[in-house]
Amino acid sequence: MIRTKKQGLLIVLSGPSGSGKNTVCDVVKEKNSNIWESISMTSRKPRKGEKDGVNYYFVTEEEFKENIKQDNMLEYAQFAGNYYGTPRKSVQKHLDKGEDVILVIEIQGALQIKKKLPQALFVFLLPPSMRELKRRLTDRGTESEDKILKRFETAYREINEISKYNYVIINDEVSKAASKLLAIIKAERCRVDRIEEVFLDSLEEKIHETLVDKDLENKNIDVNKI
Ligand code: 5GP
Repeated sequence: MIRTKKQGLLIVLSGPSGSGKNTVCDVVKEKNSNIWESISMTSRKPRKGEKDGVNYYFVTEEEFKENIKQDNMLEYAQFAGNYYGTPRKSVQKHLDKGEDVILVIEIQGALQIKKKLPQALFVFLLPPSMRELKRRLTDRGTESEDKILKRFETAYREINEISKYNYVIINDEVSKAASKLLAIIKAERCRVDRIEEVFLDSLEEKIHETLVDKDLENKNIDVNKI
């Protein structure tokens, strides 16, 4: 049997505010129970209905800065006037368990991860149009008009960085976008470089032994029986 690497896959999902990243991620997690979503830390105030330790770890700006100082963050960024970041330890723990870990984060943080861990999977989610993006941001009703405008401007800048990602998905329908992301994850798990090196080495050795073994000359090699 071919063995794939025990370590899970790190998936980075970005896209402008209002592209539907969290909704798509929720559907993906529902369909694939081996995916764990990291809980970010933020200095932003909780929105109505958001819970500490569920949606985010809500901290003060000082507490956030202290976590940066202690090197507790895998990445972090300032977005729309607040700090956001991924706590390092929990991500590592889940990857080591062999679970795939998904980070739903903005682009500055994604690029920091790309520098540190280029083997991670980088997926960018796009809204069907900028008009639709503006409609989604306005309809959400969670932000003031100037904040919506700021997020909309940021969206334009973020879309320019799309070429730094491995895949792009247009989110015109949540279920379709989620299916595409699941397919990308499945394909990524089949990559040759995810087959355990130890196993490849011993497989190569055994094939070699078999080939030079005179008794077995002219016999078919069944790789599954080696
Ligand atoms: P929101 O305030 O709408 O919850 O999030 C604002 C932006 O910050 C979104 O694009 C969201 O994906 C991003 N974000 C959430 N958590 C993190 C994080 O841990 N790191 C970074 N870099 N961005 C994050």
